[in-house]
Amino acid sequence: MECTRCGRNASIEINYSKDLLCNRCFLELFEKRVRKSIRANRLLNPRDKTAVALSGGKDSAVVLSILKELHKRAPRAGLLAISIDQGVDVCGRTLDASRKICERLGVEHHVFTFREEFGLTLDELVKKTRGIENAAPVCSYCGVLRRRLLNDKARKLGVSKIATGHNLDDEIQTSMMNFIRGELDRMARMGPIVGVVRDAGFIPRIKPLRDSPEDEVLLYARLKGLEFEPSKCPYSQDALRKTIRSAIDLIEEKHPGSKFQMLKSTDRLIPIIRSSMEAGEIRKCSICGEVTSGRLCRVCQIKKELGIY
Ligand code: SF4
Ligand code: ZN
Repeated sequence: MECTRCGRNASIEINYSKDLLCNRCFLELFEKRVRKSIRANRLLNPRDKTAVALSGGKDSAVVLSILKELHKRAPRAGLLAISIDQGVDVCGRTLDASRKICERLGVEHHVFTFREEFGLTLDELVKKTRGIENAAPVCSYCGVLRRRLLNDKARKLGVSKIATGHNLDDEIQTSMMNFIRGELDRMARMGPIVGVVRDAGFIPRIKPLRDSPEDEVLLYARLKGLEFEPSKCPYSQDALRKTIRSAIDLIEEKHPGSKFQMLKSTDRLIPIIRSSMEAGEIRKCSICGEVTSGRLCRVCQIKKELGIY
C-alpha cells in the first residue's frame, strides 16, 4: 500500500476520503485541519493568553501540543494549562500525565482541587447526592462545578480564552442528545467558540478539535508519543450518550463522511435556533454575583442542595 500523497509506505486508511496515508502525511493533514479550524472560526488572536483545560486524556493533550507548536511559530500573549483534580481514584494518574506533558513541552501548569475549592471531593459529593431525592446525574454536578472553577481560576490568571479538547464525536453526540431531549436552548449554546457575549467575567471557550474525529485524535496522540491517561472517570455513565455513540459509529461505518455532515447540519441549525429564541433576562446570582437567568446560579443551587456552603 502506498501513501496517496507521497508514495511512501502507507499504514493508515481514511474511509471518508478514501486516502491511504503514511504516518508523516497523516500528522501533517491532522495539524493542517486543526490550524484551518482555528483560522476559519477565528478562535485565537495574537493578543490571546490561552489556557488549555488539561484533563490528562488524549484530547486535551493533543490541543496542548498543537497550540504549543503554534505559539512557537507565531508567539502570542501566553499559553498555560489548568487541571482540575476532582479527587477520584483516576485523578492521580491523569494528573501525572498532565504534569509530564507540561514539563516536556515547557508549559506552565496550574492544578486546582475540588477539595480546596468546594470542601469535598467528587467521591464525597457522590455520597451526598445518594441522600437527595431526584438527584441529578453526577456529571451535571461535577460539570457545573468544574466549569466554574476553571473559569474563576483562568480569570485570575489573566486568561482570555480557554481551549478544551472537545472533538468531532463529542460535538455530534451532544447535538443528537440535545435534539432527542428537546433541549434546543443547549443546542443554541453549541459551536466552535462558546460564551462570547454573556458576561465580561465569562471566558470564551474554544474547541480546536471540533472537526477532528475521535479515532484520529487518538492516533495522533499515539504517533506523537504524547503523555495521556486512557482510563475513564468511574462516574461517566451517560446511557443515552453511549447509545448515540454506537448509533453514530454504525452510520459512519455504513456511510463514511456522515459525522462531518452531522456537524455541518448542527452548525446550520445553531444560528436558526438562536435567532428564534428570546434573549433571557440576565441577572446576577444573589449569593455569589455570577451571571444567571434565575435568582441563584447553578453552582450556588448545587452548594445549597449538597449543604456545602
Ligand atoms: Fe465529572 Fe462526569 Fe466527567 Fe466524571 S465523567 S469527570 S463525573 S463530568
Ligand atoms: Zn451563585
